[in-house]
Amino acid sequence: MKNRRFSEQERLDRRRLLAAGGAALLVAGIDGCSVGGLQPKRRTAPAAALQLAPLRASTDRITQITVCTRPFRAQGPRLDVEQIGQKVIVHNYGHGGSGWSLSWGSSGIAVQKAMAAGEREIAVIGCGALGLTSGLLLQRAGARVTIYAKDLPPNVRSSLASGLWTPDSRICLEDHATPAFKQLWANMVRRSFQTYQSLLGLPGNPVEFIDDYFVSDDSTRLRREASSTDTRPKFADLQRELIADLIPRSEDFGPGSHPFGNRYLRRNSLMMFNITAYARLLMADFVANGGKIEIAEFHTPADFAKLREKVLINATGYGSRALFGDESIIPVRGQLARMIPQSDINYGLFYKGVSFLPRRDGLVFQVVGDDDYYGFKDDTTVPDRAEAELAVNTIAGLYKAL
Ligand SMILES: Cc1cc2nc3c(=O)[nH]c(=O)nc-3n(C[C@H](O)[C@H](O)[C@H](O)COP(=O)(O)OP(=O)(O)OC[C@H]3O[C@@H](n4cnc5c(N)ncnc54)[C@H](O)[C@@H]3O)c2cc1C
Repeated sequence: MKNRRFSEQERLDRRRLLAAGGAALLVAGIDGCSVGGLQPKRRTAPAAALQLAPLRASTDRITQITVCTRPFRAQGPRLDVEQIGQKVIVHNYGHGGSGWSLSWGSSGIAVQKAMAAGEREIAVIGCGALGLTSGLLLQRAGARVTIYAKDLPPNVRSSLASGLWTPDSRICLEDHATPAFKQLWANMVRRSFQTYQSLLGLPGNPVEFIDDYFVSDDSTRLRREASSTDTRPKFADLQRELIADLIPRSEDFGPGSHPFGNRYLRRNSLMMFNITAYARLLMADFVANGGKIEIAEFHTPADFAKLREKVLINATGYGSRALFGDESIIPVRGQLARMIPQSDINYGLFYKGVSFLPRRDGLVFQVVGDDDYYGFKDDTTVPDRAEAELAVNTIAGLYKAL
């Protein structure tokens, strides 16, 4: 997804703004059997005016403000194997703003490494996006699994994510995107993408596609490249180069062809996770397959000695910073303002650095800033009401003239 939603949606926005013109449309196949349907050009707006149900965006409808830190590592996620005492530890953490998006692919790699140790009883430490998918994939590989975690959904960081398929959001810095990393990342993305296709159309819509509109007051904004005056290290921007075939083409709407007056709109199709339903589904499947979940906190890796399993997958996310003393994990703060759901709203918006998502478990508004450095090295988790209201009022402004 390469446009320009901001922050983790920065990666999405890049797709919105820049990439969709040359992208191909994927008609997903199963087990690599059928893939096709190339449509290489950006579509022009259809003749009929776009109709969008009005969103009831107002600050009195905010139900919750949540804050969490993304576990960013400049070199990308940690997936190596470490021996600590008698235990084999397979790491599976540090996915920045892409943890949900890459989870099936990343956990697939971790599971392969864990199973290679020859044990059939395996522990997973952590019950977020990476821990749950690790547990499920271990079961599918024939292992008996216990998840040990301090907290379970909805009290994990994964439950506070925006909920979009953003596979290269703050995944690593450009300098670290070696050919080997790119190959690894592309494999993770493709496996995750295909797995997500098997989770569409389920009760409660854990995963669904939405139309997403990038809205601009200025037509040139739709074509603007990132500022070249910024001297900070760049975050890797991998989608256009490596997975263009997974990006549906966008459509543009000029003034008068949509409900937002003289503005310019670009429409994309994005995959969205309704995280409450999705996390519950993952937990229920894990338990139905015979998985066990135990509440446990580990203060140092030496604490793993008390576990009966010899092989562990470490999926503690940002928690690995303290647990393993891994200071390569950099916090990137993100805040969501949640609002009463509105069942007739099935589209997302991006306007003036604010993202809106029509999640069924609560509408999501987020200030995402102008680039991936928004919230960088900020580990404060105190909710900022003013920021939440700014997010809601910015989107509400689009509807003022309606
Ligand atoms: C605002 C925001 C928006 C985001 N939006 C998106 C998005 O749209 N799409 C996307 O793909 N990603 C998104 N992300 C990123 C994504 O949320 C993370 O990459 C992902 O949640 C990381 O999952 P995890 O399983 O590694 O960690 P966590 O969800 O943090 O889970 C860690 C688990 O380990 C346990 N644990 C930690 N330490 C210990 C310990 N010492 N002892 C025992 N248990 C421990 C915790 O209790 C928990 O169960 C977003 C992140 C933020 C902050």
